[in-house]
Amino acid sequence: MKNAVTRGLDQEGVLPGPMHLRRKAATYNIKAKGYQDNLRNRGLVFSYALAVSEENASGGKIVTAPTCGSCGVLPAVLFHLQKSKDFSDTRIIRAIATAGLFGNAVKQNASISGAEVGCQGEVGVACAMAAAAANQLFGGSITQIEYAAEMGLEHHLGMTCDPVCGMVQIPCIERNAMAAVRALDANIYSTFSDGRHSVSFDKVVEVMKQTGHDIPSLYKETSEGGLATNYSFE
Ligand code: SF4
Repeated sequence: MKNAVTRGLDQEGVLPGPMHLRRKAATYNIKAKGYQDNLRNRGLVFSYALAVSEENASGGKIVTAPTCGSCGVLPAVLFHLQKSKDFSDTRIIRAIATAGLFGNAVKQNASISGAEVGCQGEVGVACAMAAAAANQLFGGSITQIEYAAEMGLEHHLGMTCDPVCGMVQIPCIERNAMAAVRALDANIYSTFSDGRHSVSFDKVVEVMKQTGHDIPSLYKETSEGGLATNYSFE
């Protein structure tokens, strides 16, 4: 994951494919460093997520977490927290184990496939995994960790999968950046609570599965609806 971030940050130019989409990670990283505090942190997290997702979009080596399309979220959050808070590799690995438990719970009980349940199952689950990992790193209780994960997924319920030109670029790359910041917000939200919450993670997974089945196939990776049919490029 670290290699994917650093490799992605070093790249420039356009991504493969007919859209000739420019890589943004390096620019975001440089600009973020010109700011302080919250803006700087957000900009850096954006840049790390962009770096990994752009690597994925160009056939680079990434870690599926839980999928290729959503591979930027967890590394962005963990890379940022390790750099800014000095968490050891051991603590980061434990946080990845926790993230993996949440991802596997979804894979087992619902789906992490955009073709089956839409992007809620990919980027939504990645957000839940990253939120859980972040909360554990900051010493959250079991209920707070679960709350952070639940928030990460709940607020992506219904999110469709409509990649333009069938490529994992638009909306996927920016979506990873937004979800990474959202995961950190879910962590903060849960940290401010006492861990008690109304909807359990298992329940939101159940709802996600049902919602995914109810979403028309136009919005499940077929590129026949949504942005995929309403985006034009030269
Ligand atoms: S929009 Fe579809 S292809 Fe893109 S990240 Fe989401 S699930 Fe994957």
